[in-house]
Amino acid sequence: MVYSIRDITSYLETLAPPAYQESYDNAQLLTGDPEAKVTGVLCTLDATEAVVDEAIELNCNLIVAHHPIIFKGLKSLTGKNYIERTIIKAIKKDIAIYAIHTNLDNVSTGVNKKICDMIGLENTKILSPKKQMLQKLVVFAPLASREEVSQALFQAGAGQIGNYKDCSFFLQGTGTFTPNEKANPTIGSQGKAEEVEEARIEVIFPQYLSGKILNAMKKAHPYEEVAYYLQSLENTDQEIGSGMIGELPEDMDEQSFFAQLKKKMNLNVVKRTALRGKPVRKVAVCGGAGIFLLPAAIRSGADVFVTSDVKYHEFFDADGQIILADIGHYESEIYTKDLLKEKLSQNFSNIALYLTKVVSNPITYI
Ligand SMILES: [Zn+2]
Repeated sequence: MVYSIRDITSYLETLAPPAYQESYDNAQLLTGDPEAKVTGVLCTLDATEAVVDEAIELNCNLIVAHHPIIFKGLKSLTGKNYIERTIIKAIKKDIAIYAIHTNLDNVSTGVNKKICDMIGLENTKILSPKKQMLQKLVVFAPLASREEVSQALFQAGAGQIGNYKDCSFFLQGTGTFTPNEKANPTIGSQGKAEEVEEARIEVIFPQYLSGKILNAMKKAHPYEEVAYYLQSLENTDQEIGSGMIGELPEDMDEQSFFAQLKKKMNLNVVKRTALRGKPVRKVAVCGGAGIFLLPAAIRSGADVFVTSDVKYHEFFDADGQIILADIGHYESEIYTKDLLKEKLSQNFSNIALYLTKVVSNPITYI
């Protein structure tokens, strides 16, 4: 089986839809021809020049990276810094670079789930679920078409709530209409007032699917004009958002927890606030810079918050209510490359998949 770069990136976009990335982000195909055939995939945290060299050596023409090497606008490409040198080399050598960044942070099976799994957390959930990610569709269909219309909506991705699929609600009622002289009605005739037994079908779905769902609805619906309305919901989407929280299988004393954290995440250095003399059970995590989640971590009752890029004064904000631990940005996210390789290997057989051996961490602890 030969796959195109688009086959790989389309699959990755089912895991972490680009619509879930933060507004400042640039998660997408950054270089390369999406129609090119994939010769191999190299998974990495950072797509640096050394990683592009490694891809060339391994005969991989696709690099899947967590951090987008192009993050701000480029006004020239002359090789004056590491970003431009990386891009120029990738383009010259026909290497595609795909970035899967905050969209992979914001899904419940992404960066933070990987950290939870490594630490051994159970009952994991999103720490700060996002609001206004969901929409509701109400559509009116003849009773006899209810099943067909509902199924089409489900197939297009509507009606998924947590562990339940095909979720909908319907009410039976009477629809009225009068077709004009230009109409071609499925039921009734021109100029004649009609009353039809109809179903009012309601479903919810992620906002980014609305185009696909409306198309499916119109295709499955028997009427020339479909009566429907769309609403944006204030509800949080429990599956989408920042950070995660989970529980250790049993209470641990603080010293043992940090010893285990260092071992499991392969850490040389942890910067943390004072121990509180309490057992550790609930742990919040956020790969990368997660200090913005400190209030949510405290509110959730976590004993420890594991993140990175914490500044001096921000450590004070833990204020004895939680142990705030900075494990390093690279260290917190480095296993994202393993997650990407695992996911790709589950879906694509007969494709050469590699983990980078380049240590892209720009920081050395001495
Ligand atoms: Zn990061």
